[in-house]
Amino acid sequence: MKTFRGISVSEGVAAGEALVLLHGEVQIPEVTIPPSQREKEVARLERALAATRKDIEKLEDETRGRIGDLSRLLTVYQTFLDDATIVTPIMAAIRQKHLSAQSAVHVVVRSFADRFLKMGEPFSNYAPELLDLERRVQARLLGSELVNLNRLPKPVVVIADELAPMQALAIDREKILAFVTESGSTESHTAILARHLGIPAVTGIRGLAKSVGQKARVIVDGLEGSVVVEPDRDTMQRYAKLIRGLTRDRNKVAERMPYQVATRDGVQLEVLCNIDMTEGAHDLADAGFAGVGLFRTEFLYIGRKEPPDENTQLSTYSELLRAFGARPVVIRTMDFGADKFDDRVSVLREANPVLGLRSIRLSFELEDLFRAQVRAILRASVHGSVRVMFPMITDQSEFRRAREIVESVKAELTRKRVRFAPSIPIGAMIELPAAALEAEHLLKEADFLSIGSNDLTQYTLGVDRTNGRVAHLYRPHHPAVCHLIAITVEAGLRAKKPVSLCGEMAGNPRYVPLLIGLGVRTFSMAPARVGPVIDLMRQVSIPECESLARSALESGDADETARLIEAFGARTEKHGRKAQP
Ligand code: PEP
Ligand code: MG
Repeated sequence: MKTFRGISVSEGVAAGEALVLLHGEVQIPEVTIPPSQREKEVARLERALAATRKDIEKLEDETRGRIGDLSRLLTVYQTFLDDATIVTPIMAAIRQKHLSAQSAVHVVVRSFADRFLKMGEPFSNYAPELLDLERRVQARLLGSELVNLNRLPKPVVVIADELAPMQALAIDREKILAFVTESGSTESHTAILARHLGIPAVTGIRGLAKSVGQKARVIVDGLEGSVVVEPDRDTMQRYAKLIRGLTRDRNKVAERMPYQVATRDGVQLEVLCNIDMTEGAHDLADAGFAGVGLFRTEFLYIGRKEPPDENTQLSTYSELLRAFGARPVVIRTMDFGADKFDDRVSVLREANPVLGLRSIRLSFELEDLFRAQVRAILRASVHGSVRVMFPMITDQSEFRRAREIVESVKAELTRKRVRFAPSIPIGAMIELPAAALEAEHLLKEADFLSIGSNDLTQYTLGVDRTNGRVAHLYRPHHPAVCHLIAITVEAGLRAKKPVSLCGEMAGNPRYVPLLIGLGVRTFSMAPARVGPVIDLMRQVSIPECESLARSALESGDADETARLIEAFGARTEKHGRKAQP
């Protein structure tokens, strides 16, 4: 048995047989052809390109109904196929360098992919698509078919060095138990897709694809971000129990509507959902969530050549607000930069993008885009109960500047006699230690706060949340993070203004007792997490959670905090779930 640690990109746990896909390894030797064959080879390539175009159109038709918005990623492929900057050098390599069609495609596409990778984000995000496209064209040249994930004989855990969204798009949901990739980040296209489809996924385990045998037994723990290869009996049994529990919880969710959650000693907790895609919003509203604690609007932009215009955003936000009626919906303004991008911001390249021009800072730079988004949110506000939230706020003056833009858009709409809701709460995310320490001042301006524990952990501990090499150091339970959460919650209590937590911690049963103990009462989580979290919330009491939190704050050491959490989890295990260290 061997356990690998990576980064969780999509929750859930699955066990099954490995299907290993090694893409980066495909090597095609440089083969030259006699001059007499050149035009034949060009014609062969043209046929292969036309066939690939058709394959992609077909896939687009097949996936449109199924995955909605994500099928627009396919336009990226069509763009590459039609792009003269790529196709012309391939033709030139055949005609002038006398390469075979296969060699020409390989050499040219690889050099483009390498260039993209060297340019860093956001360009590097397109490298997997480009390489996947190469595989498709090569398959057509050879007259063979790629491994078709849509026609697998039995369910598998896909382990790949890299996995293009395009391949992921074609999957038969019933046959893919989980994804594990060596490279990628939590916000890569494939990660977003996995979350959207509810497939457990882990990324950032270098060298895994080469060290796992085809058909090996593997467990993918998307809660902890780990992969167990050839588990021993005890581990297998423990996970089998966990998987049964999670399935039971998922099935039970429908019976719980609406979510009325109180701790064992009767303290009411609020359970909201995080939304990355608006598809399925009606189902979530029907499922009984108390509202939406975080709508990540930047995902509306991904895969489009142009950002969605104001009216497109208006209809998306309106639909979401209508679905939730009087329940609050927090729309976070665009959070670009670092590992999330859009074509409009792709010109930016920075040595340290996480510390650079990202998020609200970038919104100030791209004020037209920001104002269009705010206008769309305000116009949609008449359809429900909207709240606006700014990401990555540092201090009061930054918040004030963002709020003033909202006020100025309001004035513009009033002049044009466009209706919007009379009072819209405006809040800030607490994602930086600076913001947590300044929570009290922020609350003089902000109507509410929401703790983004994903970034708060990254910035407090100085650990890149997308880098698998430091994943073991990414510890949201670190006492320093706990202190900052406690400071924020206390500031909210003093100001009598709402404070919620919408990072991944909120949906992880391991951390929920700690958060309750730190004073968090409103939790916003990925919908798939709600079952186990609610069960746990009902099992615990405020005094025992507070005692856990006190010990964590006093521990002075993340390992010690992990031990405390584990011991707490063990005590509640009889209720069916053990917190993993
Ligand atoms: C966070 O940082 O905790 C958060 C919720 O925002 P995101 O994960 O989109 O950065
Ligand atoms: Mg964040």
